[in-house]
Amino acid sequence: MKKLSITREPLDLPLKRTFTISRGSRDSIQNVLIRIEADGVTGIGEAAPNHRYEETQESAMDFISGFGDYRADNPFDVGELVATMERYAPGEYAAKAGLEMALFDWIGKKLNLPLYKLLQAPGRTGPRTTFTFGIDEPEIMKEKVAEAGPYPYLKIKLGTNYDKDIISAIRELTDKPILVDANEGWKTVDSALDMIRFLDGQNVYMIEQPMPAECKKEMQKLRLNSPIPLFADESITGKESLQELATQFHGINIKLMKTGAISTSLKIVHQARKVGLQIMTGCMVESAIADTASALVALWADFADLDGHLLVAENPVKGLTILPEGHVQLNDKPGLGLTEE
Ligand code: MG
Repeated sequence: MKKLSITREPLDLPLKRTFTISRGSRDSIQNVLIRIEADGVTGIGEAAPNHRYEETQESAMDFISGFGDYRADNPFDVGELVATMERYAPGEYAAKAGLEMALFDWIGKKLNLPLYKLLQAPGRTGPRTTFTFGIDEPEIMKEKVAEAGPYPYLKIKLGTNYDKDIISAIRELTDKPILVDANEGWKTVDSALDMIRFLDGQNVYMIEQPMPAECKKEMQKLRLNSPIPLFADESITGKESLQELATQFHGINIKLMKTGAISTSLKIVHQARKVGLQIMTGCMVESAIADTASALVALWADFADLDGHLLVAENPVKGLTILPEGHVQLNDKPGLGLTEE
């Protein structure tokens, strides 16, 4: 038995700009910073609780406090921690992801190995990431196109009654490839198809979650008729049948805060490939801590959407790098490779 000291504290960070999606707006994030300490080594993790899944900063803090005095049979076995957390309480996947991330960071530091090497990733450079725009009036969207200057791929949040105006305003300024995220905002097959037809031919390479997660039959119809690849986000938390999702979507957006673990995400990546689903690794609005852990998973993915930390005004650490062409890259330091900013 090995005792690991686990502590947590609120991680409240202002955003550079108010961020709006079809479900609401926010000016700051209320996440949780987690530390695992043993043998003079400290692993760091972050939980980004999501209201859609009935998680809050407080509920995540509560969950983690239950592990204050955690004793592991084998501290190098993340599967043991994942199983213990599942037995401890249902839900709270952001807290679970933050804890597992901190343990992985601790293991990497303890073994003096970067996690991409420990996990035998194909390399330390992943796909290009998008740069996300929240919903705004077309005029403000124009300002954001200028801010997104260095990033070659844009992600635009839609699901308003002026979606076409937003896209037209952006297309007046740039022909960069666009990933559209409707966040369940289109409510019928007809309205979704109308938008998809409008977007076809406008260099939109992917549409994320066009319709509400419960619209499974509707999504099957949409998938058969959409000329643009459709990716699941709200429709996948990690517990669904991937075979069934493959009838509704061309790909899935895997997020650590929903699967609850790096190890679980990697299992899903390999299973999803078997049923022909493409893979994107996404993030919540989170700092460079969680985005670096997500970038680790992205080393096995086709697409990345890891700009959460770019929306935060000041990151507590430096982790992943975004290369000039937009690719995400991990550094060569032990664990997650996080360093003081
Ligand atoms: Mg999304």
